[in-house]
Amino acid sequence: LRILGIETSCDETAASVVLREEKGSGRILGDVVLSQLEEHSAYGGVVPEIAARAHVEALDTLIEEALLRAGVTLKDIDAIAATSGPGLIGGLIVGLMTGKAIARATGKPLYAVNHLEGHALTARLTDGLSFPYLMLLVSGGHTQLILVKAVGDYERWGTTIDDALGEAFDKTAKLLGLPYPGGPAVERAARTGDPARFDFPRPLVGDARLDFSFSGLKTAVRQAAQSIEPVEEQDIADICASFQRAIARTLKDRVGRGLTRFKTEYASVVGPALVVAGGVAANQMLRSTLQALCDAHGFRFVAPPLQLCTDNAAMIAWAGAERLAAGLPADGLDVAPRSRWPLDTRAQALIGSGK
Ligand code: ATP
Ligand code: MG
Ligand code: FE
Repeated sequence: LRILGIETSCDETAASVVLREEKGSGRILGDVVLSQLEEHSAYGGVVPEIAARAHVEALDTLIEEALLRAGVTLKDIDAIAATSGPGLIGGLIVGLMTGKAIARATGKPLYAVNHLEGHALTARLTDGLSFPYLMLLVSGGHTQLILVKAVGDYERWGTTIDDALGEAFDKTAKLLGLPYPGGPAVERAARTGDPARFDFPRPLVGDARLDFSFSGLKTAVRQAAQSIEPVEEQDIADICASFQRAIARTLKDRVGRGLTRFKTEYASVVGPALVVAGGVAANQMLRSTLQALCDAHGFRFVAPPLQLCTDNAAMIAWAGAERLAAGLPADGLDVAPRSRWPLDTRAQALIGSGK
């Protein structure tokens, strides 16, 4: 199966062609991502209207480029997969309408893919993981611990009750006068800092649920910065290092509980695995924390290559391929984009029943 994938839910315009072999393995044939980082950096965050316009300008060229790199034409494609939520509605409309137009013109089936499902299934493309496994998604818009049970069957075990982890990095950077995007800047500054100088809060640690909270941490960073006058470079480094340590400890507790729950509920699974996804997966402190945690719990830690952890269209194409291979129906051309769209099967059922 060859699938064309389209991703436009946030600030990356992406197109990809992915091959899924009958036995279930996959290969990326062509993959292009255009980041809009520069368009948004002056504003310190993603501006929805600018994002939508940038998708319109770039998407058709990117699709041609992905096909070219894959060495195929639309005739060789078995289905089209386009992200149809969750995300910024303007961008979703651009990607989904383009997908519909191609489906209509070629007569090929269209899969309207949940962006989070793309992240959730990537590890099956890169590492051939089998179900079930746990996924920690940490990006600018999401912080979720998800049980991946089967194609189309997901349970959200935990989510952030306020800021996403990437958002906490970005806001902390802004507060400290570091450049956008904040994650890499904070990580860099933290390298020369003292992680023990500030004892930042670790919200929800010890809580029996598996949720996350990061907004209190951001407030504590602001207070720390305001308490020092003038703030020197070393102070910023110390704040960043202490911030990262608070996050490491939070993750250790929250995700650790998730691993324990998995072992209890799925005691028969041999070689359980934790997958990380999202832009914050680039962070070395986060990676080593999760690696150590997995070692301690007897889990395999899977971190796909970074360009497949951040937003891309290969994961969308792959999710479409998995849906097709699993016999799930394609979507009608009347399918609508959804800015909000939980991946959790039960949450979807509630929305469907109007509750
Ligand atoms: P979505 O949430 O819809 O998937 P997004 O564009 O917000 O999309 P990504 O592109 O996956 O998310 O990731 C961007 C986020 O990752 C930003 O918040 C950025 O600060 C963070 N990030 C990137 N590199 C690092 C790093 N080295 N350490 C910490 N955070 C990082
Ligand atoms: Mg992004
Ligand atoms: Fe994403």
